[in-house]
Amino acid sequence: MIIKPRGTSDILPEDTPLWQKIEKTARDVAGLYGYGEIRFPTFESTELFARGVGSTTDVVQKEMYTFSDKDGRSMTLRPEGTACVVRSVIENGLAGEAMPLKLYYFTSCFRYEKPAAGRYREFYQFGTELFGAETPASDAQVVSMADTLLKRLGIKAELKINSIGCKSCRPAYREALVSYFKKYEDQLCETCRGRLYTNPMRILDCKSPVCQGIAKNAPKVTDHLCDECRAHLETLKTLLGDQGIAYEVDPGIVRGLDYYTKTVFEFIAPIGRDEKTGEIKRLTVCAGGRYDGLVEEIGGPRLPGIGYAAGMDRLVAAMKFSGAGIPETKAPEIYIAPLGERASRAAQKLVYDLRMKGIYAECDIVGRSLKAQMKYADKIGADYTVIIAGDEIDSGRAIVKNMKTSEQTETALRDIDRIISKEGQ
Ligand code: ATP
Ligand code: MG
Repeated sequence: MIIKPRGTSDILPEDTPLWQKIEKTARDVAGLYGYGEIRFPTFESTELFARGVGSTTDVVQKEMYTFSDKDGRSMTLRPEGTACVVRSVIENGLAGEAMPLKLYYFTSCFRYEKPAAGRYREFYQFGTELFGAETPASDAQVVSMADTLLKRLGIKAELKINSIGCKSCRPAYREALVSYFKKYEDQLCETCRGRLYTNPMRILDCKSPVCQGIAKNAPKVTDHLCDECRAHLETLKTLLGDQGIAYEVDPGIVRGLDYYTKTVFEFIAPIGRDEKTGEIKRLTVCAGGRYDGLVEEIGGPRLPGIGYAAGMDRLVAAMKFSGAGIPETKAPEIYIAPLGERASRAAQKLVYDLRMKGIYAECDIVGRSLKAQMKYADKIGADYTVIIAGDEIDSGRAIVKNMKTSEQTETALRDIDRIISKEGQ
């Protein structure tokens, strides 16, 4: 048997209604906030991610699916969407349009990670990016949009916000971090030892319990912000408060990108129970931040931006765990059960006519006996069943059975669709 690659998933019809519900809700919320949809390629030049995600990040150093195409160019399956959107904005001249520019996307992402609950090698994101505004008000709108989405999905998430400073205050904070972590250099995990001099802020985000323990007492970025960054964070807090959005300032929240500036945030939600300990497992379902230097880094003009990505696999898990339930798949409104060859032919046309009227109808195409057909119609939850044999075709009238009440009525075959409209009256 050929099986799917590790860390990938098949999403089956019993689950897709939940995915569709998330997609629909996300599109609705994007519409309310004035975002337009963007789609971009599945693979891009490797260089885009080296520059756009940052060469010192885990994603670029360890997790990318990179390959040479037949012309020897280095290509990479997108590990995230932001760099792709920024590339597209620059390439298509969108940076010259009236600002703000607001874009959303659904994308699959590929990362060579150690698979676990909520962590896959191919996963899905709903992402948004807002360009051309650097006010705290734009941050508040972006956070509020993510908050609205999660609330509409019935996910009770905790919002953590932070500021990671800017070009003028970060260098001093970086120094403070290096001198703190240096004291624990031999205890840090191998990755963090490497990060110590390249990207020390990433140590705060390490998943290893030892590094997390050490990071707990590290200098706090919020104690090192310049006046501008501090004022920006304070205004954001006020605006979120005005909108009734609950949050906690957590100086431990840092993002992977080197180009993130000022505001960063994460929504954390319960997604299931640990199989062994039974403890409730909480994961970041949505994460984002401001990246005022990214567009320039990728070769575009100076253009501030802020965005987030929600991990759709984790949204699905969170919704299942919260008992939101999977929307029901639609059952047929009418099931036509033909008896005999002549009736079977007539049933095909009847079903076609009903479908053309926008009615979900089914009829037998498997060759079941009448008894088996009735059982099947019941199993798939058909509202009405119509049995037709040669006689019915000749008379043009048939018996319709209401499957819920078992009530039977006689109707002209020509307008069996009326039984449905009657019910709606
Ligand atoms: P984490 O710290 O969990 O590894 P990250 O910082 O790498 O997340 P981002 O690159 O910010 O994540 O991606 C945004 C969101 O995408 C995450 O908050 C999460 O919901 C989802 N996500 C990231 N990596 C994965 C993965 N391997 N499998 C499933 N979802 C993921
Ligand atoms: Mg990660």
